[in-house]
Amino acid sequence: MSELSTETLRAYDQRYVWHPFTQMRDWEAEPPVVITKGEGSWIVDSDGNRYLDGVAAIWTNVHGHCRREINEAIKRQVDRLEHSTLLGLAGEQPSLLAKRLIDIAPEGLSRVFYSDNGSTAVEIGIKMAFQYWIHRNRPEKTRFISFKNAYHGDTIGAVSVGGIDLFHEVFRPLLFPTILAPSPYCYRCELSPARCSTGCRRECLQKLEELLEEHGRETAAVVIEPLVQGAGGMIVQPPGYLHRVRELCNRYDVLLIADEVAVGFGRTGTMFACQQEGVTPDIMALSKGITAGYLPLAATLTTEEVYSAFLGEYRELKTFFHGHTFTGNPIACAAAIASLDLFASDDLLNKLPEKTGYLKQRLEALRELSSVGDVRYCGMVGGIELVKDKRSGEPYPWEERIGVRVCREARNHGLFLRPLGNVIVVFPPLAISMDELGFLLDGIEASIRVVTGA
Ligand SMILES: *Cc1c(COP(=O)(O)O)cnc(C)c1O
Repeated sequence: MSELSTETLRAYDQRYVWHPFTQMRDWEAEPPVVITKGEGSWIVDSDGNRYLDGVAAIWTNVHGHCRREINEAIKRQVDRLEHSTLLGLAGEQPSLLAKRLIDIAPEGLSRVFYSDNGSTAVEIGIKMAFQYWIHRNRPEKTRFISFKNAYHGDTIGAVSVGGIDLFHEVFRPLLFPTILAPSPYCYRCELSPARCSTGCRRECLQKLEELLEEHGRETAAVVIEPLVQGAGGMIVQPPGYLHRVRELCNRYDVLLIADEVAVGFGRTGTMFACQQEGVTPDIMALSKGITAGYLPLAATLTTEEVYSAFLGEYRELKTFFHGHTFTGNPIACAAAIASLDLFASDDLLNKLPEKTGYLKQRLEALRELSSVGDVRYCGMVGGIELVKDKRSGEPYPWEERIGVRVCREARNHGLFLRPLGNVIVVFPPLAISMDELGFLLDGIEASIRVVTGA
């Protein structure tokens, strides 16, 4: 328990903290829940109320909160070295982790560039791809193909390759222009591609091919969230989609940047999402799950082909001039290594099919509700899209904040949830038990019924 009273903590928050993605006038209007503890799949507030963490500490938590093994690895590392630098020095933990990451990464990825968050991991990928083509004597390859509904982070470069108008439009004048491909969401019939029978899915890929045909010569890379577009609304790609994108990139001599910041580290059922399609991207961005939700850390992985283009005499200026102060922080790397150890000792990936099968079955059953327009899932990711009128597919107007209201109701059912617009997100720690998963889905269903009336 904190020494300060709940009232004091609330007052300090509302007086001094500016929250992300939050209308602060609303925030200041009611007392916030103050989280002070975590235990397994649960977070606990300053009054001792427990909430099942349905969003895994914003898509980062893997093995549950406060896992003893990771706590101890961090404590051991703190007593040895808190931070050094990778500028001019090597480090024990970052070296070890790089080797471990390459051991589990898609075949062909061989080099690790560290940073501290998902946005930087993607920006590094963008800059790497850009400079790569300069060294390959193809300086005209300067453009990027991005997708509608994509989310790659909130720094200027990452927003440039993003495609969510609600978040990104206000910054348009600051952004570099990209070539925009349709979302793998069925963009004509507005159904998830898995249920689409009108051939939109083929059209999405056809459109991408047309864009590559027209712009491939000037394009450095395609930037994609493999298998699932996360913040865009948990939009799941149909099987074969990513594989085809890889083929098209090969055909038009364009690099593929896979942003696995959300889906990496087991979330879709395999260690990395690309592995389900037998795809090796040229560049892969990792963050959220990398330290199992403990500390900020990110890595941008690439191939020997990309890496070696940067080798040369110093005066040739082929160096990759990029770096962050806390690059390869040893405490964060130690947490990441402990997490990978737990994947093995808990046999975590092999325990997922039972949970993902149950999640799928419960989500499918929600289609019966008159306010549920679509359910989407991939591994341990789920999205429940609420609609005002099921027959016409008319969405809830965004001003009604239906997602927020359902998630608020969910607190009365012992859950913490965070929606994406009208989509209720299911993204629990991977280590969640079957009982807890049942509790989570019971609470979500009850909350939807209470708020929408069905
Ligand atoms: C969260 C996220 C990012 C950004 O990561 P930050 O650590 O918040 O900067 C990038 N890409 C994807 C797919 C994400 O889900």
